[in-house]
Amino acid sequence: MKTNIYNLTLTELEQYFTNINENPYKAKILYKYLYREKIDNFSDIKEIKKSLTDKLSNDFTIELPTAKDTHKDESVTKLLFSLHDNSLIESVLMRQHYGNSVCVSTQVGCNMNCAFCQSGKFKKQRNLTAGEMVSEIMYMRKVLNEKISTVALMGIGEPLDNFENIKKFIEIITCVYGLEIGIKHITLSTCGLAPKITELANETKTVPLAISLHAPNNELRNRLMPINHAYPLEELQKAMAYYNEKTKNKIFIEYIMIKDVNDTVKCAKELSDYLQNINCTVNLIPYNETQSFDFKRSPKENIFAFYDVLKKNNIHVTMRRELGTSVKAACGQLKSEHTNKN
Ligand code: SAH
Repeated sequence: MKTNIYNLTLTELEQYFTNINENPYKAKILYKYLYREKIDNFSDIKEIKKSLTDKLSNDFTIELPTAKDTHKDESVTKLLFSLHDNSLIESVLMRQHYGNSVCVSTQVGCNMNCAFCQSGKFKKQRNLTAGEMVSEIMYMRKVLNEKISTVALMGIGEPLDNFENIKKFIEIITCVYGLEIGIKHITLSTCGLAPKITELANETKTVPLAISLHAPNNELRNRLMPINHAYPLEELQKAMAYYNEKTKNKIFIEYIMIKDVNDTVKCAKELSDYLQNINCTVNLIPYNETQSFDFKRSPKENIFAFYDVLKKNNIHVTMRRELGTSVKAACGQLKSEHTNKN
């Protein structure tokens, strides 16, 4: 079977050319054509002789996912993609004042089973390959004709449960001969796989980290996020401190505000204590209501009161401007709607 060329790092392509007695420098030419010229066919590479582009066409595809459904408003385009095996994933293009950002899915389904999240309703079927994640971005580049400056690993799936492919994906999209996305412009969001956070911190080039925290004590977090049974808050706190210390990066704490569940002043005080020694910014995000769960979004007053407590306790905190509510951009919502229809 042919391999999707987007799955190869520059080093792997150099090795490919060396193996067939060609100058490995051709890998750089190929990268330029794939990612900058956005070619659909190898025969479009004028700097490479026809016999070799024919061989490339025999060995590789240049494969994009197929869009099954699109929701858009002026700042957000959300796509439901079908992959070669008919698996469904979602990607979101967000137009921000600093440039375009893509929210990338990392797995087909998700095993983390968070109580409020639609993605968890689809059990993990498989990991996405690096090439499939790259092709989510290339779809935005080629079909929507958009420039991409930042990437968020915040779509369906748990990136640290697919860490090897994520590392490869990061190597491909940061390559200076290709997309050249800055390492600091890629955010990895995790529900808190503590040992993997430590492993991430030990990488030579580390991406910014976001933690989906959503609860300030183990009792509540166990109920909302089953991963907390495996890695309780104390262990997560140690991993976050290690990440701070090792990378000098601050951490983004995501905290969705759910009415009367995790949005009380008591929770805000507990959260302030928990984060006291962590270098971080807390993003307060209104819960995006879905039909599948009874959770309700916090009223504005609760969010403001929560914000004030964190501020008073010297925790850096922001309220995220909401993008995507109208296009059902919360994790797993579009896929869920599509699956219910059929
Ligand atoms: N598994 C990773 C990546 C998913 S990111 C993680 O947990 O971080 C998706 C983010 O959207 C997570 O912070 C998740 O908790 C949040 N989310 C899921 N459902 C949501 C909803 N209905 N409203 C708002 N945020 C939601």
